[in-house]
Amino acid sequence: MKLILLGAPGAGKGTVAKQLTKIDGSVQISTGDILRGAVRAGTDLGKEADGYMTRGDLVPDSLIMGIMEERLQEDDCKSGFLLDGFPRTIPQAEELTVLLEKLGIKLDMAVNIDVPRDVIFDRLCTRRTCENPDCQEIYNIKSMPPKKEGICDKCGSPIVQRADETEEAIGHRLDTYNEKTAPVAGFYEKAGLLKTITGTSSDIVVAGVKKELGI
Ligand code: AMP
Repeated sequence: MKLILLGAPGAGKGTVAKQLTKIDGSVQISTGDILRGAVRAGTDLGKEADGYMTRGDLVPDSLIMGIMEERLQEDDCKSGFLLDGFPRTIPQAEELTVLLEKLGIKLDMAVNIDVPRDVIFDRLCTRRTCENPDCQEIYNIKSMPPKKEGICDKCGSPIVQRADETEEAIGHRLDTYNEKTAPVAGFYEKAGLLKTITGTSSDIVVAGVKKELGI
């Protein structure tokens, strides 16, 4: 499947993407994960992106498009991809349309995961992530804590709060989402590709996607 997953930070795009990869081997492409990897590795991209990310601002479109142009041409994308966190602005969506046309790739659908803001805010404040870059399992200290406090069930590494998941940064990320990313849903609606699914559980969203795709 070739899908775009839209929705606010914390709407569950990553969790849904991981579940969908198991259906047909499509790969999850998370621009947030790619950028965090670059920050950890201390690359030029990481150094440039770091400040924007910690503040909860979007990284400039030009940096993101360079990443995606390369990533979409890698071999593992041939069996399908789930774009998680991209496109996040109208210019990114426009440039993606041109890029996909150039690469001869047709999207199946843009899925807009719709979750109320108060649920999202609470979710992000209590979210914790495994710090092992090869694992990155997600927990929630209220609703899905690890078996042993502070330790990942899967790999035994510490679980941490992301630098951009302080209350201040979360508020800013949600405002940025409303201003810059929410209009992207309208872009795909006009293109006849949008499906909005309201649901706070990833199982409901995955079932909705499967139904739409007839699988
Ligand atoms: P995420 O993990 O998707 O919430 O992304 C974390 C942060 O990475 C965002 O708050 C942005 O600073 C940056 N980021 C991720 N994807 C994009 C994108 N498509 N455009 C601009 N910035 C992005």
